[in-house]
Amino acid sequence: MTAKIIDGKATAERIRAEVKTAVEIRQAEGKPVPGLATVLVGENPASKVYVRNKQKACAEVGIQSFGYNLAEDSSQEEVETLVRKLNADPAVNGILVQLPLPKHLDEEKILASIDLNKDVDGFHPVNIGRLAQKGREPVFIPCTPAGSMLLLEEAGAQIEGANAVVLGRSNIVGMPVALLLVKDNATVTIVHSRTKNLPEVVRGADILIAAIGQPEFVKKEWVKPGAYVIDVGINQVEDPTAKRGYRLVGDVAFDEVSEVAAGITPVPGGVGPMTIAMLLRNTLRAAELADLA
Ligand code: NAP
Repeated sequence: MTAKIIDGKATAERIRAEVKTAVEIRQAEGKPVPGLATVLVGENPASKVYVRNKQKACAEVGIQSFGYNLAEDSSQEEVETLVRKLNADPAVNGILVQLPLPKHLDEEKILASIDLNKDVDGFHPVNIGRLAQKGREPVFIPCTPAGSMLLLEEAGAQIEGANAVVLGRSNIVGMPVALLLVKDNATVTIVHSRTKNLPEVVRGADILIAAIGQPEFVKKEWVKPGAYVIDVGINQVEDPTAKRGYRLVGDVAFDEVSEVAAGITPVPGGVGPMTIAMLLRNTLRAAELADLA
């Protein structure tokens, strides 16, 4: 079997175009342009790139972005004061606090200080709590997990009743995507660094989500023929033939796993572009919620 390549770039472009049109319609109707505030604390180079990309994506669809860069040594009170100010600002519909925060800050408290209706990253403890509860709906779903689920659906994967294995249990990817799979009636196993017989567990997966940050970790022999594989991992590996001296690979050995899976996301061009697209969609939704307030 040769896997269908699940094209996240194309799906993300479609979502971005939909958001752009919706923003134009809002403007034509005299409604305010959606606004996203990004809060970056410190100088983490990767975080700077992520924030810049998010701001650029906002500009492309007509969402206004407000960038706040705080010093690495900012106090808990300074960050929370900024979040409270943004909570009260009607031009700001979504607030994104870029993670990870410097170690001295209490991430949980800062995320909890974001207005629930502006929590476009979906990491507020109440939003995550609702994700974990039957019959409750979060206001926003975290972007990378939501993007992964959308790609599964677009690929035609049967989620209800499927055995789904999630590799990784992080707050931002593994755990929320596992909760989303449960909500969609999959039978979910979460594997992590203490899991015994990991390849054997993975072999039972009709749906496999890999989010561990280990280059090309998942091998062909571990993948059930006909499985759908969503590779969230983004890893740099040395490559002297590449212009930058490295290339990006996922957590799945793409070439060999493509020979057995029914569908697989590439890296780059799979889940990555979906994350920003879902953030734009969430920000538009936040503006629509504000219209009703
Ligand atoms: P993380 O916070 O570092 O969590 C990694 C998880 O993987 C942990 O649960 C860890 O287990 C588990 N793990 C690590 N090594 C393992 C191993 N050898 N065997 C089994 N489990 C192992 O990572 P993350 O933030 O979720 O990110 C995961 C990957 O996704 C990274 O490559 C990251 O760059 C990428 N990512 C991509 C996007 C996107 O937009 N596409 C967004 C976010 C993250 P323990 O809990 O036991 O330590």
